[in-house]
Amino acid sequence: MEEIGHWIDGKRVAGTSGRFADVWNPATGEVQAKVALASKAELDAAVASAAKAQVAWGATNPQRRARVMMKFVSLLNRDMDKLAEALSREHGKTLPDARGDVQRGLEVVEFCIGAPHLLKGEYTDSAGPGIDMYSMRQPIGVAAGITPFNFPAMIPMWKMAPALACGNAFILKPSERDPSVPMMLAELMQEAGLPDGVLQVVNGDKEAVDAILDNPTISGVGFVGSTPIAQYIYERGCANGKRVQCFGGAKNHMIIMPDADLDQAADALVGAGYGAAGERCMAISVAVPVGDETADRLIAKLVPKIEALKVGPYTSGEDVDYGPVVTPMAKENILRLVQSGVDAGAELVVDGRDFSLQGYEDGFFIGPHLFDKVTPDMEIYQKEIFGPVLSTVRAQSYEEALKLAMDHEYGNGTAIFTRDGDTARDFANRINIGMVGINVPIPVPLAYHTFGGWKKSVFGDLNQHGPDAFRFYTRTKTVTARWPSGIKEGGEFTIPVME
Ligand code: NAD
Repeated sequence: MEEIGHWIDGKRVAGTSGRFADVWNPATGEVQAKVALASKAELDAAVASAAKAQVAWGATNPQRRARVMMKFVSLLNRDMDKLAEALSREHGKTLPDARGDVQRGLEVVEFCIGAPHLLKGEYTDSAGPGIDMYSMRQPIGVAAGITPFNFPAMIPMWKMAPALACGNAFILKPSERDPSVPMMLAELMQEAGLPDGVLQVVNGDKEAVDAILDNPTISGVGFVGSTPIAQYIYERGCANGKRVQCFGGAKNHMIIMPDADLDQAADALVGAGYGAAGERCMAISVAVPVGDETADRLIAKLVPKIEALKVGPYTSGEDVDYGPVVTPMAKENILRLVQSGVDAGAELVVDGRDFSLQGYEDGFFIGPHLFDKVTPDMEIYQKEIFGPVLSTVRAQSYEEALKLAMDHEYGNGTAIFTRDGDTARDFANRINIGMVGINVPIPVPLAYHTFGGWKKSVFGDLNQHGPDAFRFYTRTKTVTARWPSGIKEGGEFTIPVME
């Protein structure tokens, strides 16, 4: 069986801890590889070596660093199909969706080609007599990224590209569910010209994560994953004096006003609710039609579309809408939550529980589910299900729908479907959620804007990618320089103020 180790100092190395995790092929249910789980000693050695490599990389001029990003983009395009295939084989998502996963990461690398401009800093000429003042953006040194299973190409690239473009060394701890693509990305970075040791991929579980959080050389940690782990990492990392940004779970509401184009809204809901088997932090998991008439018409349009969804393995190429979920544990948890919805009295309008695919009976496939008449006290409403399950909560007014989304503990993304500009503007202004779509179901910002939720979907104060990433991965040093001319006046004993 294939053993996946780590990427250290420019080569693949075997793990030495003796601990491994299973990597499944979710379509067939087979264990296709074992991934090594690093010990604290392995993590610490990788960091020590990265810290040495960072010195020269940090001193490399930003334009040369940007050229590595430029080359990396062309290599990603060259290997797009290979990366997508490896990604689908471990994650289960369809091939077109896997290409999208690589593409949305690649776009952040493209943004990082502009690093020299973003790192220019600030300068004040003649801030006082003979005094100039300038602020430099310097690398933080060694940064680390801990990433989730659901975007094994995109999120590692969101983390490592800005960190590296800023002149840092980077330790990537990818999800142990689908580690192959992160390893391939490291190989491509080397081919693009990144010096060995500057990017280390350390595979592992809690032991490796805790070693990152406790390692004194690592000065910044970026995390994406579920909320309880996000909170844990934020608290432990901050207690150890690091800067930390953690992006957590979600429960994204889509509000459908009575004046919305319901065909457009139904199509949007099907794509945003069931795409990638619902394993997206920006998936829509709650539909909130306003008024019973809107709800009845919406459900009538949704049911045939959901029943027509094609669920299958990635090897079916374009001919499948979504694939299996990632592990047998994920499947079990999703089906348990579906049962809890039924037990709590929600109406299961589309029931995917008996779904089975001929030839793939052992795969982790789940048929689509649609609930109606869900209420806020139910577990299926409160928890992130992360599966192909859409819940409908009926609201009787716009204000009730708005309050529902605002009262939920998560605040990652949301959408409103309406033909009324006034309602849309009011919603965008008042909602306490980080990313808002207006007639757009999955409003993931592009690379040059920033990505981040509010409330329990985030811990920390800067977003991912866009200009915020360059703030997170650099620290500011401000120099006040005096080159006096003329007669020297002796020491100054009061705090200087500029007149
Ligand atoms: P997860 O929290 O289980 O794992 C994320 C990372 O944390 C992995 O690298 C994992 O190895 C590590 N980890 C897991 N348990 C740990 C523990 N006890 N101690 C220390 N580290 C631990 O998340 P997942 O299942 O891989 O990903 C799905 C979750 O990620 C969902 O909640 C989803 O909403 C969220 N997500 C959020 C965003 C966002 O930007 N807000 C984006 C994608 C995914």
